[in-house]
Amino acid sequence: MKTKALFTGSFDPLTSGHLNIIERAAKVFDELTVGIIINPQKKCLFTLEEREEMIAEVVAPLGNVSVTHFSGLLADFVNENGYNVILRGLRDSKDFEYEMEMAQMNARLFNEGVETVFFMTKPEYAYISSTTMKEVCSLGGCIDGLVPESILEKMKAAYNK
Ligand code: ADP
Repeated sequence: MKTKALFTGSFDPLTSGHLNIIERAAKVFDELTVGIIINPQKKCLFTLEEREEMIAEVVAPLGNVSVTHFSGLLADFVNENGYNVILRGLRDSKDFEYEMEMAQMNARLFNEGVETVFFMTKPEYAYISSTTMKEVCSLGGCIDGLVPESILEKMKAAYNK
């Protein structure tokens, strides 16, 4: 059976921590889709279209990675589209506590055979979050290497830095 994995998140914006998870997962699973969660309550720096475009550009060289978006219940999207792996990244015990609860709830809702799989962050990316990247960049701090180059340029433009 083909492994069809979905890596979910807000990705506002995608960071080097996210990209590292994607690059590693692309070698493990047959197909990987980056699924942007549409959350109208969350105020984002980049529009959904901008995030989708930025991610598509960065993952293009990988070959088996695509980008999509969804709203509503994750389990409905997963079951309706035949994904058999949900991928999430873990940075620390805070992530673990939150993710365990979500994974156990989702396990009840997913079709038979769908598994949530966790990849541990590479240690040098453990402190990177989209929120911290936006905060530091907005104040003119250097985040070189912590977000992909093409995304860094768009962040600097958004903050006039
Ligand atoms: P969400 O708002 O759903 O947490 P994020 O875009 O912040 O969305 O994160 C998406 C996924 O990527 C989550 O599983 C998160 O734990 C993981 N992640 C975020 N930053 C990193 C990082 N630096 N290293 C590894 N995984 C990460």
